[in-house]
Amino acid sequence: MNKKYDFSKITNHLDNREYSFDQNLIGPHCIDWRKKYEGTSDLIVFPKSIKKLSKVVKECSLQKIPIIPQGGNTSLVGGSVPRKNKSEIIINLKNLNKIRKIDELDFSVSVESGCILENIQDHVKQKKMIFPISMGSRGSCQIGGNIATNAGGLNVIKYGLLRHNILGLEAVMSDGRIYSDLKKIRKNNTGYDLKQLLIGSEGTLGIITAANIKTFPESKEENVIFASFSSFSDLLDFYYNTVRYFSDLLTSFEMINTDSMELVIKHNSELTSFIERGEYYCLVELSNFISIPNFYDLIIGNLTKIKANVNSIIVSKSQNENMKFWKYREAIPPSETNEKICIQHDISLPLENMNKFIKETVNEIKKISPNVSIINFGHLGDNNLHFNILSSETTNYMNLMQNKGKITEIIYSKTHKYDGSFSAEHGIGQLKRKELKKYKPKEEVDQMLKIKQVFDPNNILNPGKIF
Ligand code: FAD
Repeated sequence: MNKKYDFSKITNHLDNREYSFDQNLIGPHCIDWRKKYEGTSDLIVFPKSIKKLSKVVKECSLQKIPIIPQGGNTSLVGGSVPRKNKSEIIINLKNLNKIRKIDELDFSVSVESGCILENIQDHVKQKKMIFPISMGSRGSCQIGGNIATNAGGLNVIKYGLLRHNILGLEAVMSDGRIYSDLKKIRKNNTGYDLKQLLIGSEGTLGIITAANIKTFPESKEENVIFASFSSFSDLLDFYYNTVRYFSDLLTSFEMINTDSMELVIKHNSELTSFIERGEYYCLVELSNFISIPNFYDLIIGNLTKIKANVNSIIVSKSQNENMKFWKYREAIPPSETNEKICIQHDISLPLENMNKFIKETVNEIKKISPNVSIINFGHLGDNNLHFNILSSETTNYMNLMQNKGKITEIIYSKTHKYDGSFSAEHGIGQLKRKELKKYKPKEEVDQMLKIKQVFDPNNILNPGKIF
């Protein structure tokens, strides 16, 4: 137990179900989703009110106790767990979980940061609205974590990132003061927009406690196009035409390469290859927001006008079929975990450079590790590419373990060469601090450090993350 700090001054503000020193309970909160990072902590708190949270943070500020803000702990960059032996305490936001109000006139929802994303989606659905953000971790991640990582997900092509949908924000700052800007107005040009600094700050500038977020009228119907292509250029032609022919009806455009498809089929016996094989596949979701009679026929009509080389194409006819099609995309990350080793990268690139990037990068990687699978998939409509290197064989495992650093370096340096980003949607956390230093312009990092100093002069908020 830590002797450096007087934790009783923290726990005095809480009832006994709002904190724990029990290592059996704290342990799982110290391990990240991918089990890459395992830290230690002597105390975890689960404040039930913003006032109590504010008091806890104030005390941490006085004693200079480092704090790890934690939501659903689904961070893929080790952002939400403490480091080893740094005497960091965890503040988990799960008890701040009220959906305060759904505003049907202003199309917004007011939520506390511990609300699970899926619960918010279900709530607004009851009012015939949709929430603009969705992702594979929706059953576990919290909206506070989503905001702190400026989450993207499946529908960015239609609604933008979370950053584009936040109308107002509330947060506890590093000295315990409550910053409250819970407006729901779309226009508010009153100087610096502080909430935008907190969005995507990964718990290093403040602890987000609540937000007002845009909602949208729900769609009447959705259909999903599943298509296969012989080459990436054919897929891109199809993307270009889809955007032009379907415009606002487009709510997702996902890409899957052949190795990803084979991986999914290998690990999911219920999923078979029911579409003609290709080098690339796409899943395109189209939604109609006003009643369009025979929406399916309209889609088929537009598809016949599209001039692109497609191997095979199917359009879903029911919600059940939509779900069936989406399974091929959603099954990729869990299938990766069934293999011996998978080195993951979440990058983004301008579409015009993506093909060159993939060819060059794959070539270089195969020179070092010839027998690996290249798992490429992602939200193509948002330039996002998951570039994962996978092997199921023990012999390759040793080779990949030895060359892991080299491979990652090839991927990030090519991403830089082709004007992309080494972190598309997961953030920096602990995982990409080296890359931040290497690839982000020094002037920008210097300005970021100055901002951190202003918001958190004692460096108690999520130290060791981002920088
Ligand atoms: P945590 O993991 O707990 O925390 C993430 C970061 O935010 C940490 O730095 C933490 O300190 C900070 N934080 C958490 N809560 C707060 C708060 N209230 N105030 C201040 N800081 C806080 N991400 C995408 O963007 N798009 C995807 O499509 C996507 N798909 C995923 C699919 C799967 C299967 C998984 C496991 C993850 C995926 N992710 C995706 C990554 C992850 O789910 C997101 O980063 C998510 O937004 C994190 O939410 P969380 O509540 O789990 O936050």
